[in-house]
Amino acid sequence: MNKYKIVLLAGDGIGPEISDVSKKVLKKLSKKHNFDIEIIEKLFGGIAYEKYRNPAPDETLDQCKKSDAVLLACVGDIKYDSLAREFRPESGLLKLRSALNLFANIRPVKIRKSLIDASTLKKEIVENVDLIVVRELIGGIYFGKPRGHISNTEIPKAFNTMVYDSAEIERITEIAIKIAHQRNKKICSVDKSNVLEVSQLWRDTVLKSTSKHKNLSLSNMYVDNAAMQLIRDPSQFDVILTSNLFGDILSDLAAMLTGSIGMLPSASLNNNGPGVFEPVHGSAPDIAGKNIANPIAMLLSASMMLKIGLNEEEAAESLENAVDKVLSKGYRTADLANSFSEVLSCSEIGEKIIEEI
Ligand code: NAD
Repeated sequence: MNKYKIVLLAGDGIGPEISDVSKKVLKKLSKKHNFDIEIIEKLFGGIAYEKYRNPAPDETLDQCKKSDAVLLACVGDIKYDSLAREFRPESGLLKLRSALNLFANIRPVKIRKSLIDASTLKKEIVENVDLIVVRELIGGIYFGKPRGHISNTEIPKAFNTMVYDSAEIERITEIAIKIAHQRNKKICSVDKSNVLEVSQLWRDTVLKSTSKHKNLSLSNMYVDNAAMQLIRDPSQFDVILTSNLFGDILSDLAAMLTGSIGMLPSASLNNNGPGVFEPVHGSAPDIAGKNIANPIAMLLSASMMLKIGLNEEEAAESLENAVDKVLSKGYRTADLANSFSEVLSCSEIGEKIIEEI
């Protein structure tokens, strides 16, 4: 029997509620598909700050490094917004990504047929959307140095540096190539090379890396056009490859094609070592503690963890199918509900999914 050790970071806000559902679902899947999964829970985010004055304590990071995969719910709350930057829950996320060298963020955006009406775009625009955003995660302007404030000027100034070397671009391109090979073999690389030198290096490097793969088709798009095309005709995309800043913005935009942020999973990976699997949404403080959150984004993140992180493909498929069955029967959490659906709480929809596994 295969045995896995995963770390669960429930974090803040709705995190504990959706984590509770995820634990139960993983236990059911392990029984059905005959593997053993040890779930180690650790403090992370605001809750870790409360106890240790550190949103990403060393003990949590060490345990993550020793695990087979990390399943993270979400962190953050308005009450931490006035803290110095290094104490904020979101800084914990950056620390975790750096500690595990998670340079690739993968975000699948797929329309589930039963939820097509949840999108704010017309049905015919979104019905065939099935794309993946591959975003570089630990470089670019979020990490570039020098950065800072200049105080001795007449008016306040601040600056950041957008920097990549070709090795960083090559390794994220290799991930996009691998994913494109498993799909429709189309990569669209998004940059701003008409204005930025760093984007020109990005474009040249992506071209060089992909040119060895004759069966792949590569296109390039400026980021402003990509934003427009994602709304105009999103089904033209298969794999979108882009840098940290552009990926951050475009992946949220792409996420909303599906209608609810409560449905979208993501994976952050490196070439070896544990990945972090987490929903795209934040901690939703406005609905925390009410048992009304949608746990499906976290469950689909658990499915990505089973597939990519643990190689338990059948269990991953079984979970995806169970989610689809529950949705097609008309069960919904409040964020997805329409006049035909039966609205269930977070824990109730979890139970329905467990019944279908
Ligand atoms: P958010 O994603 O938490 O919430 C945006 C809206 O979507 C809210 O109305 C919320 O109720 C709703 N929503 C989100 N997830 C939902 C779910 N699973 N089910 C039902 N509805 C859901 O974004 P925000 O309000 O901008 O941020 C709240 C906090 O989360 C902030 O502190 C922010 O920094 C943090 N945040 C954390 C992460 C992360 O942990 N990776 C990501 C984004 C934001």
